[in-house]
Amino acid sequence: MKKYIAPIIMLAIFEAIAVTLWLTKDNFFYFVNFTYIGCSIALGMFLYIKKYKHARRVVQLLVGLYMLIYLGFICGENMQIEGFWYYLFTGVFEAATIHYAVAKIFGPLIFGRGWCGYACWTAMVLDFLPYKVPSQPRKKLGWIRYITFALSLIFVSALFLAKVGNIERIMFWSFVAGNALYYAVGIVLAFVFKDNRAFCKYVCPVTVFMKPMSYFALFRVRCKKDLCVDCGKCKRVCPMDVDVTDNSRKRKNGTECILCMECVKNCPKKAL
Ligand code: SF4
Ligand code: SF4
Ligand code: SF4
Repeated sequence: MKKYIAPIIMLAIFEAIAVTLWLTKDNFFYFVNFTYIGCSIALGMFLYIKKYKHARRVVQLLVGLYMLIYLGFICGENMQIEGFWYYLFTGVFEAATIHYAVAKIFGPLIFGRGWCGYACWTAMVLDFLPYKVPSQPRKKLGWIRYITFALSLIFVSALFLAKVGNIERIMFWSFVAGNALYYAVGIVLAFVFKDNRAFCKYVCPVTVFMKPMSYFALFRVRCKKDLCVDCGKCKRVCPMDVDVTDNSRKRKNGTECILCMECVKNCPKKAL
């Protein structure tokens, strides 16, 4: 039973969020929404414990497709970063602002970049590409994310400053266009750098929020130094180039860990 504690805790956290938002916002949708996401994540963790090798992909598809198709295309909510700026500027704590608060700003204090490993609909597609493990050293291109972050902010600010009408409609179409662009750039970069996660490492603006918060994450992969034989397998299989054998918070690329558990699965000494 002890081994099921983690999925139970995760489900409890999401249920607490679901009930709190339902009651404070007086909107039953939030209860359904966060219960669904919590159950999906808990199911994935349960499948992982049962050693089902596609456990993470199941969660990615359950959450990613729900958010992209149902919330994005059917409900017309822009859940990308422009949608976050839009709701922030209108002063409304709804949709994208709640999503960002839970998944990308405060949530990472608990589950780090779990969003990136288990729920992001961009990575959901990129993870199907052939370069699961980077074959080349990481490039020094992380600065690009600050430019895309600034561009998203400038785009939405300009719409408000120019007092453009029907911004909600523009937000919907920017969600469609933004996703198409993310997928196109993500796929091209994956093939150019032979690395499925090149887009995440260099371009994604959301990491500007997530990296500093995940530095303090409660859930982290830790190394039992007494068992480790320094074989380096964990670093070779890591899609994000994390030095997971270093337990300090300053470990190399520590804020890039997406909790995919590939290092844990592949450690021959069960040291992780
Ligand atoms: S870095 Fe960006 S694109 Fe990659 S998984 Fe995270 S949120 Fe998605
Ligand atoms: S794979 Fe395991 S034993 Fe090998 S270096 Fe990593 S933690 Fe140590
Ligand atoms: S392989 Fe390990 S260190 Fe690398 S991203 Fe996955 S969980 Fe994090």
